[in-house]
Order: sequence, then C-alpha cells, then structure tokens
Amino acid sequence: MTQEFFDEGALVGVLTTQPLDRVLDYKAPEGGCFLGAFVEVPLGPRKVLGVVWGPGRGDWDISKVRAVNRVLDVVPMAEEMRQFLSKTADYTLTPMSAMLRLATRAPGLGDAPSMRKVYRLGTAEPERMTDARRKVLEVLRDYGGLAFTLKEVAEMAGVTPSVVKGLVKLGAVSEEDSPRDLPYPRLDPEYGSKELTEDQQAGAQVLRDAVRSGRYGTTLLKGVTGSGKTEVYLEAVAECLRQGRQALVLLPEIALTSEFITRVEARFGHKPAEWHSGVTMTERRRCWKMVGQGEAQLIVGARSALFLPFRDLGLIVVDEEHDTSYKQEDGVLYNARDMAVLRASLNSAQVVLASATPSLESWANVEAGKYRRVTLTSRYGAAVLPEMTAIDMRSEDLPGSRWVSPSLQAKVQARLERGEQSLLFLNRRGYAPVTICRACGHQIGCDDCDSTMVEHRFLKRLMCHQCGETKPMPTVCPSCEVEDKLAPVGPGVERMAEEAQALFPQAKIAVLSSDLYGSARALKEHIEAIARGDADVIVGTQLVAKGHNFPKLTLVGVIDADLGLQGSDLRAAERTFQLMRQVAGRAGRAEAAGEAVLQTFQPEHPVIRAILGGDEEAFWAAEAGERRAAGVPPYGRMAGIVLSSPNVQEVFDLGTAMARQDGPLRQIGAQVFGPAPAPIARIRGRHRVRLLVKAEKGVPLQQALAAWAKQFKLRGDLRMAIDIDPQSFY
Ligand code: ADP
Ligand code: ZN
Repeated sequence: MTQEFFDEGALVGVLTTQPLDRVLDYKAPEGGCFLGAFVEVPLGPRKVLGVVWGPGRGDWDISKVRAVNRVLDVVPMAEEMRQFLSKTADYTLTPMSAMLRLATRAPGLGDAPSMRKVYRLGTAEPERMTDARRKVLEVLRDYGGLAFTLKEVAEMAGVTPSVVKGLVKLGAVSEEDSPRDLPYPRLDPEYGSKELTEDQQAGAQVLRDAVRSGRYGTTLLKGVTGSGKTEVYLEAVAECLRQGRQALVLLPEIALTSEFITRVEARFGHKPAEWHSGVTMTERRRCWKMVGQGEAQLIVGARSALFLPFRDLGLIVVDEEHDTSYKQEDGVLYNARDMAVLRASLNSAQVVLASATPSLESWANVEAGKYRRVTLTSRYGAAVLPEMTAIDMRSEDLPGSRWVSPSLQAKVQARLERGEQSLLFLNRRGYAPVTICRACGHQIGCDDCDSTMVEHRFLKRLMCHQCGETKPMPTVCPSCEVEDKLAPVGPGVERMAEEAQALFPQAKIAVLSSDLYGSARALKEHIEAIARGDADVIVGTQLVAKGHNFPKLTLVGVIDADLGLQGSDLRAAERTFQLMRQVAGRAGRAEAAGEAVLQTFQPEHPVIRAILGGDEEAFWAAEAGERRAAGVPPYGRMAGIVLSSPNVQEVFDLGTAMARQDGPLRQIGAQVFGPAPAPIARIRGRHRVRLLVKAEKGVPLQQALAAWAKQFKLRGDLRMAIDIDPQSFY
C-alpha cells in the first residue's frame, strides 16, 4: 500500500516538467500534501510545476533539500493517470518530464481562481414592469435559479445589458461574484434521443451493455459513411452519462468539431466541453480543471485530450479511427488510438473505434478476438452507396495540361443539367506541386529542405509543405536568370478549380482545402453553404473525405487515383483503399443515388480493383496475408530512428556506429536496416538519416531500443528521434 499523504517536512519525490532524468526530493510544505498533488517547487532560481510522485529517495544531502513552495488548488493527479503517463513514457520512450508537460497543457493552473460577475433571479418584484424586464425575469425563472453572465442573460432575453443592470438596482435580479471557471451545464442523456433502425438498435445495445459492465473492453464500430455510427456511439455516451462517468470523443480534425458539437447539443440538450488547439486559453484552463473535478461530463477533442485529468473516465470514442492524424508526429510520438486503449484499460473504461474503413491494426485485433465488432450494414434512410467505376486514362484523349477526362467531364455536365452537385477530388493543396524553368529545367526548391516549393496562387506565393516557409513567386529563374520562363507542372486543387471553371463556365465552383481558411469557423460556414447547395462543383482535398454531409452531391470524380500508390510506404495500399472509399462515400447521401469514378492509369492494379469491387473483407485478408508474410505491423513490430544534424557527416557517422553496435537489439532477435538518407533528406536545414528496426511481436522492443540508444552520446547539434510503430516514413 503506497502512502497517500505526506506530513509537513516529510521527504517527497516530485516529478517536474523540466527535462531532468529523475524525480527530485523536496520537503512536504506546511499542512502536508497528498500523493499526486500538483505543486510549485523551487528549482535553482526558478519556480516550476510538478506533481508529488511518491516518497523521496533520501539520497540527497538532507540539509540541502528545499521545501515545496505551495500546493496548487487543483485536484491531485489520480493513480490511474500516473500509471498512464508512466506506461505511455515506457511505450514511446519519452522522458517523464515531457509526459507531464503534455498532461498540464493549460495556462495558469496555479493561479487563484479569477472572479467574474454573474446574474440570477432576485427576490424583489419591480414596481413598473416593461416587456423587456418581463423577458429577463422569465428567462431567469425558466432556468430555475441558475446564474449567467450579463452577456448571456441579455442575449437569451433579447434585451440590452442595461435592462438587466436596471433590474439589479431594483433588487429583482441579483449580481454576484463567481469563479470564472464555471462547471459545464449538465447533459441530459434522455434529451433528444432518436428512434434507431433495427441494425443501429442492436449495435447500440452492445455498446450500452459494454459501458454498463464497468469493465475495460474495445469495440470496433464499422459501418459505411452515413450508416449512423455517430448516432449509435452517442447512445454509448448516453449510457456512460447515466452511469455518472465521463466520456471522451476524439475527432481527427478540428474542422469537424463544430458540426459534431451541434449534434451533441441536439442529443443531450447542451454543448460538451471542447479541447483542441482552436480553444482559447481561458477555456482550456476551465476544461482542464472541470475535467479534474468531474464537472465536465463529455469532452470533445483532439488527440491530446487523452491526457486530461479525468476523474472517472468511462468511455473513449475514437471517431475515424483509421485517420493518420491520430499519430502525433513531433514531440511525444504517440498514437492516440493505441493510447486510448491503454488509458481505458487502466480506467476500467470502454473504447469505441468508429470507422467506415478501419485500420488493418484494428481489423487484426478483431480477428484475434481482442476487440468486439459491431457492423452497421446499410445507410440510414433512402441513401445508398455509390456505384464505383474506373476511367482508364490510357484511352482518354486529353492534352498534357488538363486532368479532367472527357468521360468525367460528361458526367459532371449531366449533374449540372439536373441541378446536382459534383466533387472533383485531388489530394494536393495549392496550385501546382512543381514550378519548373522552361529555359534550364531548374525546379524551384526550398532553401532549407529537400523538397520542391508548391505554388499557392491564392496566396500569390510559393510554399514549402515540409517547413511552411513561403516566398514570393519569382519572375526570373533563380538558376539561369532567364525571365518569364517559369511554368507550373502538375495539378493542385487551385489549378483544378481553374480547369473546372474553364470546362463549366456557367457553374459555381467552390474549393475546399485546409489552407484556404483563416479560421475553423470560416471553414464551417463555407462547408454549410456548400451543403445547402451554394456550389455546383466542389474541388477538394482530403478535407472533404472527413465526415461532412453534402446531401445534393451525387458524383465524386477522383482525379488521380494512383497518387497514393506510389512510394514505398508499407501502408500505401491500405491508405489508398481507405481514402478512396471515404471520398466515394460522400456521394448519394440523400435520396438521389450516387456515383464515384476513379481516373487511373492502372485499372488492373490489385488495390484499384479491390476498391472498385468493394469486397472489403477480401481486401483486408489479402493485405493481412502480405504483412504477415513480411513480418511487418500489425504482425511484427517496427521502430523508426531519425538522426538529424546540420552536419551531414556527423549524422552518417552516428548512423553507421548505431548499425554496427546493435548488440542489445540482436539479443531480442531484432534487425537493423540502414543508415540511409531519409526520404526527405533535409528539413529546415537539418540533414536526416534513418534506421529501421524490425522485431517479432511479443519481444521487449522498447527496452532493447533504450539500451541500444544509451550507448551513444549525442554531441553538439545531433538529434535522435525514436518512433515506435511509425506511421509515416518521411
Ligand atoms: P456516420 O457517422 O456513420 O457517417 P451518421 O450518424 O452521421 O452516420 O448518420 C448519417 C445521417 O443520418 C445523419 O444526418 C444522422 O442524423 C442521420 N441518421 C442516422 N440514423 C438516424 C436515425 N436512426 N434517425 C434519424 N436520423 C438518423
Ligand atoms: Zn522547407
């Protein structure tokens, strides 16, 4: 039994957010402190944030041990959370200080609660009643004594703030000070429940039972786009709320949250708490604190929401679980889908992984009996899945600088005549991926990275998609200095939009690409306008593949279905399959039937054939067979090691030394491949070299990697990043 409370002066071990490789000893402050308490401790001349992690080690000169400055006014970190951070650190080979930083990403946690004025119903009746005054009192009466800010009351009543202030003077409304971090309104699990179809009902029942069990379990919720997966997992959330436990819904894209929040409000009567990079600092702190106090029942957020201090987490939903953005690609390299499963298992909570096109990992876990599976087979209502066909580009007649084939053009034309929408899908931002000089053949590249600059005509600049650097479009070639010979090569969505406008001059064209909107809100408004019919032809990137509803859309044309199949990524087939099926799923959501066509130069490619055939189980089985034979994830384990430095010789030397001194890896039967230049051999001026480690499932890979890496000192500006279960190979 670990000690739960430390009396004043007792030695405690404090984990801080500073990059030190040990827990530091301090004396418990006046009044003592609990295990898990958030504290402020002196470190050198500074004050830093920490958590009481256990008893002190006592291997420090006791006369030099300083006292904890103060205990912060937040709920101590729970035992499960401490375990979760430790296990995630072990799994991802991340220092604990970095884990703690991830778990405390809210500003001002130590600040005294700031106050603000709130208003509630008073006791007096105003002598003279006006319409405006009556409205205010009615609104406050409706909410049965709840308090609101001045702005909220005025808005709800449709009056000016001065009316409310007037009522305060008369004693009819009372004005009070209240902490700024208010609890979130209680959600009502019975509020807006929908009648489910038989299919959905059965699925919801499985999930409700699972939540009610109070034990850990993971369910893959698979169903085509529009089959009602969201409706079904909201029933699991409802059950979780009834049990009095907290629920977390992870979404892969911030742009999707506002649509989702509207649905939560319709289902549970109020908005949930939000946690992602688009949320203000004040709101972040409120969310963090209320989650810890159990005063936020449902949190909707990005992957880092997994590290919030939940008091009693009962359910985690990972929507679009196959989405690659769940993998954090810098800092702490974790996969939120996998860590959700870990966190749930420590909390006796349930996980729901929802997708129309699950990852092979999840599919394999179902096959292995580790995950339950619930399948929704049909679309809700009249909607049917689109018919999918290929356009063989080898037999289409079109000039080199055009990408919409005559066959696709005819199909779009037919939609225009019927007043229906079409989507031209191209997963490439910007105007043109390459700008070339027609005099000397020079391609304009980034100064700091080994990549070409992408023209963004909308911004009137060239942009590097690796480091984000931009520069104005030059008029003379930077290499041969000949004027006016620079030409775009290849299409991006902006260029597609131009072609679409030329082909369909009467049509209203809309471009949907993540870089074209200043804010998530502007994007949301634009998407809603398009959904209402405010565009005839939508030209879009991956952004449109993710969960938006376009009821008038009946045709999806994929401009380049071969795009994702190039390259050596082991997940290329899986990703192309998922993306094509997701995009096709955008068509035919309402009454009108949909059609999806894939422009391809290799219609006989097995992946293209599998996409068209739609036999998913066969595709997964074949893909699983190949990966099993090759011993790669999910049937084997991998780790990617990227070494980087401004000095190319240094990185290669270290890489070679690492490959040679592979004793700890050989001991577990793991193999090292490389060093080789990384696919992008230079980013932000740093040269990059990669090694790959392959091991069998079930071996202690992380331990071996740690022992291996420890042999090498990183001198100067050398950096080493170890990526367990790498998702991308750049
Ligand atoms: P998915 O998450 O599988 O893409 P959704 O849950 O978003 O599917 O459902 C697609 C659309 O159909 C949504 O507009 C949803 O509100 C509606 N819908 C699904 N099931 C029902 C139902 N049982 N009753 C009413 N509307 C439903
Ligand atoms: Zn760059």
